[in-house]
Amino acid sequence: MSNALHTRIIAVVTFLVAVTALSAGVGWVGYMSALDQLAQRGRSDLALASDRLTGELHSYRELAVLMADHPTVAATVDGDWDREATGVADLLRQTADKTGSLDILVVSVGGRELASASGNGAEIHADQPYFTRAMDGALGVFHLVQERYDKRTFLFASPVFSDAGPVVGVVIVVVDVDAVESVWRGARPTVFFTDELGVTFISNRSEMVFMAREVESTTRSATAEYAPDLPRPFMTHSIVDRRGRAIWTVQGQRYVPRKALHLSLALPEIQMTGEALLDVAPAQLLAQLQAGVAAAICLAFGAMLFLATERRRTLADANAKLEGAVQTRTAELSHANAELRHEVRVRTEAEAQLKKAQSDLVQAGKLSALGQMSAGISHELNQPLMAIRSYAENAESYLERGNTGVAGENLSRIADLARRMGRIIRNLRSFAKQESEGLTDVDLRSVMVAVLEMTQARAKSSGVDIIWTAPETPLIVRGGEVRLQQVVLNLVTNAMDAMEGQSFVRRIEIDTEQVDGRVELFVRDTGPGLDEPDRIFDPFYTTKKVNQNVTEQDGVGQNGMGLGLSISYGLVQSFGGMIRGRNHPSSGAIFTVTLDGTHPREAAP
Ligand code: ADP
Repeated sequence: MSNALHTRIIAVVTFLVAVTALSAGVGWVGYMSALDQLAQRGRSDLALASDRLTGELHSYRELAVLMADHPTVAATVDGDWDREATGVADLLRQTADKTGSLDILVVSVGGRELASASGNGAEIHADQPYFTRAMDGALGVFHLVQERYDKRTFLFASPVFSDAGPVVGVVIVVVDVDAVESVWRGARPTVFFTDELGVTFISNRSEMVFMAREVESTTRSATAEYAPDLPRPFMTHSIVDRRGRAIWTVQGQRYVPRKALHLSLALPEIQMTGEALLDVAPAQLLAQLQAGVAAAICLAFGAMLFLATERRRTLADANAKLEGAVQTRTAELSHANAELRHEVRVRTEAEAQLKKAQSDLVQAGKLSALGQMSAGISHELNQPLMAIRSYAENAESYLERGNTGVAGENLSRIADLARRMGRIIRNLRSFAKQESEGLTDVDLRSVMVAVLEMTQARAKSSGVDIIWTAPETPLIVRGGEVRLQQVVLNLVTNAMDAMEGQSFVRRIEIDTEQVDGRVELFVRDTGPGLDEPDRIFDPFYTTKKVNQNVTEQDGVGQNGMGLGLSISYGLVQSFGGMIRGRNHPSSGAIFTVTLDGTHPREAAP
């Protein structure tokens, strides 16, 4: 079992124990306060019931006292009495009827019954405690079950005093307890009245009558006379709490609560104790309810706390996992970043090398073109040189002869030729120079002039006609002048290469066109055309033999490297233009160079 789970189980068990303890406490406090309220209410109920009973019995007591003073009764207890003459029996009967008494007896000092309302009196009361007490001049109170009435009765015995003072007789008022009880039978709570022996004599629950809390032999013998088989025990267990409250467990009673709070109230005037049994079930239920609510609240709170903790724990776990993943990913990314940086460095270096290689290649291309043209160029320079020499020699002889006019003419021709040679050399030098500046506005016409000058010698020796009519307005394009010369020179020399040794017409037509702000240059030849038009711009694609010897006569040989068009392609692209090559429908190849143009008026300054 994992540590976390173990901790969680301990926490939950501890919480449950705490909740149980708390709810038990709440229940106990609730129970105690409910018992307090119950006791308060019960005490007033018991006091009320006791008042009713004593009040009712009190009237019979008054009756006994009043009857003792009655002249007829006095006459009856007189020694020489005549029942018929006094009419005492009628009086007693009428009074008993009117007052609801069970019986009214007139007894002599000897304890012999002289008259009674029921008319069947023959009993001797001599030794009875109520009689003795009445004979002592006090009011005798007693309760018993008389066989004569077969009922529980309450007796009030009042002495009848003679005019001289001593007691001459006793009037006994017999009260039917059933009649007294009947008015409040079944009322709540359970109330009963016990005598000095602890035996219940009056109660609002008939099943409680003659029952005793503690049955001792004295009780049994004392009660034997009015309830031979009684009393019966009815209470099995009693708990008395610290506040002196007694909780009784009552068994075998249908209409008495099983568990009840017991209250008592001494009633000396009827020589009894009033007692009440209050059902504690509602108090228990209330306490249980309070405990249940407390437990439910605690559990709900605990569940919420538990869920919140679980949620926080889950979030913390997820967070930790996420952080771990982020750290791993960050490490991977840092690594990847370092690798990328390294790669960028390598690529930057490679790019720089490539750029250098490209510019070297361009330069190499140019030098190669120059090399190829060197024979033609030397021929081109040689011719004026020879002419200069002969003009100079002629001028010398004319000067010797003194013909300065012709000699001057010769000298001016020499100067023209020298200027022409200078121009050719300047062209070659600028062509050979590495062009480093960016894009500028270039007049395509001057590019063409330079290229034609450089190729003039070879064209002448190869019998190639180059047809080019320069437009009158400038043809301004964006590019680098020397690089453009290189592109056009390459196209013209390729065309001448293609027509080398061709028997029929050898012609190169160069034309330009301005379309939508762009300038198009066409170079068309009358050669055999392109073998593989799709491959001509591939580096190292060539159909020419490598290192073929340059013939003295042609001035230029077909020494193919397969780089000329590929370099031209790169150059034109760097100007933002385009170069294409295809076979002309009639014959030969036609190359088109499209370049960004500039409006002549903008370019004029
Ligand atoms: P190189 O001239 O060194 O061969 P280029 O890149 O300039 O390299 O040309 C590549 C190839 O294109 C040539 O070898 C040739 O076969 C073909 N080519 C170029 N221009 C023409 C043309 N005007 N007529 C026929 N073929 C051509």
